[in-house]
Amino acid sequence: MQGDSTRSVHAGRPPATAYEPSLPGPVFVSHYHLPGEATGPYTYGRDENPTWDRLEAALSELEAPGDPAATTLTFASGMGAVAAVLLSQVRAGQTVVLPSDSYQATRSLRERLESYGVGVRLAPTVGDAQLAALDGARLLWLETPSNPGLDVCDIRRLADAAHAVGALVAVDNTLATPLGQRPLDLGADFSVASGTKALSGHGDLLLGYVTTRSAELATGVRQWRKTAGAIPGPMEAWLAHRSLATLALRVDRQAANALALAGELLKRPEVTGVRHPGLPSDPAHPVAVAQMRRFGSVVSFALPDQAHAERFLTALRLTAEATSFGSVQCTAERRARWGGDAVPPGFIRFSVGVEDPEDILDDVLGALDEAAAAA
Ligand code: PLP
Repeated sequence: MQGDSTRSVHAGRPPATAYEPSLPGPVFVSHYHLPGEATGPYTYGRDENPTWDRLEAALSELEAPGDPAATTLTFASGMGAVAAVLLSQVRAGQTVVLPSDSYQATRSLRERLESYGVGVRLAPTVGDAQLAALDGARLLWLETPSNPGLDVCDIRRLADAAHAVGALVAVDNTLATPLGQRPLDLGADFSVASGTKALSGHGDLLLGYVTTRSAELATGVRQWRKTAGAIPGPMEAWLAHRSLATLALRVDRQAANALALAGELLKRPEVTGVRHPGLPSDPAHPVAVAQMRRFGSVVSFALPDQAHAERFLTALRLTAEATSFGSVQCTAERRARWGGDAVPPGFIRFSVGVEDPEDILDDVLGALDEAAAAA
């Protein structure tokens, strides 16, 4: 198999053809010329688009290298993809196990599922509670590393246990990206992600996708997309595909910068609870090294209280105070401002960009000094 950078650059691009671009531009279309019988490959813009096809082929290549059976379906956002799997794969009377510490909008689907007669059990990513919640379940949802707590679970172990009781397994792969972790190779039935984050990486679009090796499961998700209509715009799909060429460069740099930042944060007396799966001292590290190849851009930590955290965020110069993560630029936020996550008031989710590491450390350590001086 070719290396990650090579595959990222070439994934989903058509063979070189004289006088044609290497990545054809976005196809803006709602209706195709469709004479006679209404058969494909391109019928209507909510159902098919050649710009999606190329991106979907690329994502299949990254999530399941060399497997012609892999299918990817792209969506208007990560939540479009998450909802497509959860709402297309379970029926009234069935049970879903969700992480109690997942991205909060994923958990907020609990109410909707329950209103449709689906049972929902919540269990934390860390420890064995997800295993204990499996009995009689139809679908196990994992998010590893979890957002924002950065706990990690053993995908292979959980997938084996879920399959043994007849449950499907979906893994939210947003934080790791397919170059950080390949859930399908670890036994999952679905890899689901927000492409809004590190995958596209420039903070300029929303996108989501679902990859599966099962033609039957893919058909259900495709049918859901067709009827729910959460399709990606051609421009977003094309921009995301273009951005894949630098995915390996970006995630390598981000992971190295994140590790350097986490190491510096560990030395600060006012900083507690530093988490990054790549840190050798992190409780998630042993499982992370066994199933991940890159550890992502996010570092989380806590400052003593809300006021201290707000002073820190205000003192940052290079780093933008913003939600989301995985962008080429450093961003950070006080996560408790949203409510909904079990984190202390001073908890910071920091997403490390691809800037020069010395500049990032200068910015963060300077802001920490300023915030501490005003305490
Ligand atoms: N999954 C995770 C882990 C996320 O962090 C997010 C967004 O932050 C989503 C899914 C949803 O993605 P989007 O914002 O693209 O809908």
